[in-house]
Amino acid sequence: MVKIVDVMNVMDKIAPRKLAEQWDNPGLLVGSPDNAVRRILVALDATDRVVDKAVDFGADLIVTHHPMIFKPLKHIRTDLPEGAKIQKLIKHDISVFAAHTNLDSAVGGVNDILAEIIGLTEIRPLLSTPDDTPTLGRIGYLKEETDIDKFSKFVKEKLKADYIRIIKGDNRKIKKVALCGGSGAEFISRADFLGADAYITGDVRYHDGEHAQALGIHIIDAGHFATEYPVVKALASIMRNEIALKDIEIIEDTEGRDVFTVV
Ligand SMILES: [Zn+2]
Repeated sequence: MVKIVDVMNVMDKIAPRKLAEQWDNPGLLVGSPDNAVRRILVALDATDRVVDKAVDFGADLIVTHHPMIFKPLKHIRTDLPEGAKIQKLIKHDISVFAAHTNLDSAVGGVNDILAEIIGLTEIRPLLSTPDDTPTLGRIGYLKEETDIDKFSKFVKEKLKADYIRIIKGDNRKIKKVALCGGSGAEFISRADFLGADAYITGDVRYHDGEHAQALGIHIIDAGHFATEYPVVKALASIMRNEIALKDIEIIEDTEGRDVFTVV
């Protein structure tokens, strides 16, 4: 019988917990390592829809990218959305595990998948540590030089994004590209420092854009959702290979949608 702890050990190989940022809250968030597992649902977020899907599927475990519990809880009020969700999970004996910034940094994680989709070569981490531990973001080269108009359309298509926002820098062509899935505006200066012509991320704010224009680097804000959603399918597939046990069934959520609708 496979237990949650066995899956946790596999997850630590895929996205070592030691790669997580200090402020993060990855790991087992609901449930017990002793619980048995037969069915796993992989999703970006443990939303109400995903929890309902897990109940329908008969999942024992939901593995997500974003930690369902992030800030310390002050109460578990079952008349409010978060408490009701925790109640439903416990009632159905469903555990929840998250691999967040550790999955961003991990080899084959969020940022490597994004770099692969964009077709970068000579991929290196955007941020480096003295001991060569993989960290957040990636930087690499496009096979052919392009311009911001063509490149932004290409990124939108590749990520199947509903929308993207562009901050045009100076009139440079694009060959060297940096990226950070999710919310990576804080690394605009780093991307520029390493000579990136364009930087792909999400959650870019007005003043981040002004800063980028002053530096001359192009920014493609492809959205927090679209830059991370590809990891769901990839993670489920890696988990299927790693947890090569007969009685375990792993499915991925394919109905995730961006919270934003653009009109
Ligand atoms: Zn994210």
